[in-house]
Amino acid sequence: MIPFSPPKIYDELIDEVIDTLKSGWITTGPKTKLFEKELTKFNGNKNTLCLNSATAGLEIMLRWFGVKEGDEVIVPVYTYCASANVVVHCGAKPVFVDVGDDFNITVDKIKAAITENTKVIMPVDFAGFPCDYKEINDLVCSPEIKGKFNSNNDIQKQLGRILVLSDAAHSLGAEYNGKKTGSLTDVSVFSFHAVKNLTTSEGGAVALNLPAPFNNEEIYNYLCTKTLHGQNKDALAKTKVGSWRYDVIEAGYKANMTDIQASMGLVELRHYSGETLVRRKVIFDAYTKAFSTYSWAQIPTYQTSKKTTSYHLYPLRIKGVKEEQRDQIIQLIFEAEVSVNVHFQPLPLLTFYKNMGYDIADFPVAYDNYSREISLPVYYNLSDDNVNTVINAVVNAVDSVLNG
Ligand SMILES: *Cc1c(COP(=O)(O)O)cnc(C)c1O
Repeated sequence: MIPFSPPKIYDELIDEVIDTLKSGWITTGPKTKLFEKELTKFNGNKNTLCLNSATAGLEIMLRWFGVKEGDEVIVPVYTYCASANVVVHCGAKPVFVDVGDDFNITVDKIKAAITENTKVIMPVDFAGFPCDYKEINDLVCSPEIKGKFNSNNDIQKQLGRILVLSDAAHSLGAEYNGKKTGSLTDVSVFSFHAVKNLTTSEGGAVALNLPAPFNNEEIYNYLCTKTLHGQNKDALAKTKVGSWRYDVIEAGYKANMTDIQASMGLVELRHYSGETLVRRKVIFDAYTKAFSTYSWAQIPTYQTSKKTTSYHLYPLRIKGVKEEQRDQIIQLIFEAEVSVNVHFQPLPLLTFYKNMGYDIADFPVAYDNYSREISLPVYYNLSDDNVNTVINAVVNAVDSVLNG
């Protein structure tokens, strides 16, 4: 069976984890701080905070901005549940908007959804393809949209506009106008979950890139406290001679990254641009070359003059099929010993969001994308032979469903 996305575990990574295990310090410490610095260098943003998940990072940033009951957060309907769940945790309302043909949120639909209660927009770089950040940033900074913004606290007053908090869970290393995600907007949140391009088993990072007069270093320091029970010293600082006493400045969260996780991330980041992304691109291009010869195949957009993907997912669409036929195709692909997936079920199809009153009929593009989508395996160790096996399995399955 060809799996969907197993992690690449370098020997060097195992050595680095062992080094941490033997070092006498396994939770947040020097390796986490180093990984944060390396990520900042890679992305070109101002400061980076590593955490135990992207979900925690998104929620912490909503709470940092003071998002609460009565507030609205604009979220694409085509995303993983985490993007919307964190809005619900804060007591605010996720305002879903439909997406475009490239699966990403569209500026027109964002604009139509903005009200005087909108506090945050959360674009999602689906499959690793960056959203239209120039247009989104211009929109939130336009006098018309700024004029609608109501600030409820000092941070909101200082920004004076809607915060752009991007869910960049898929898009580490993707670029827009030569700049990497992480430096394209106010705040971007990455995921290092086991199925992502770069993994620390579980983990995430908040890339801070707030405009002046915000002091990103100060915000980073505050967020370290906020994500460690509100404790003004971390465990390592407390081990220093005479430093046992600490204070708690707020009822904070517990979401820090461990040095074991960071040691995995450090090794993977070293191999990321030169190996991980290179191999993923070869696989993407092979799929594109093969499927372009079939009239039923709709090839995903992953490269334009302005944007380059991080090659996270290859979302193939089959033209003209209904959801049931797509499901049959997937069944046949699995029977040919190839694992595929569907990204994503738009949120109104899921019980919780359906029960909240969201209706999939309001999001026709998202439903159409979903109903014809099949995500193909993409990972470092997927060999050229494996790629051909995947292509043949897809072609045969589609042929048998479309032509009986
Ligand atoms: C994986 C994922 C997340 C959640 O990441 P975690 O690190 O598991 O919290 C959020 N958003 C999207 C789009 C994702 O794919």
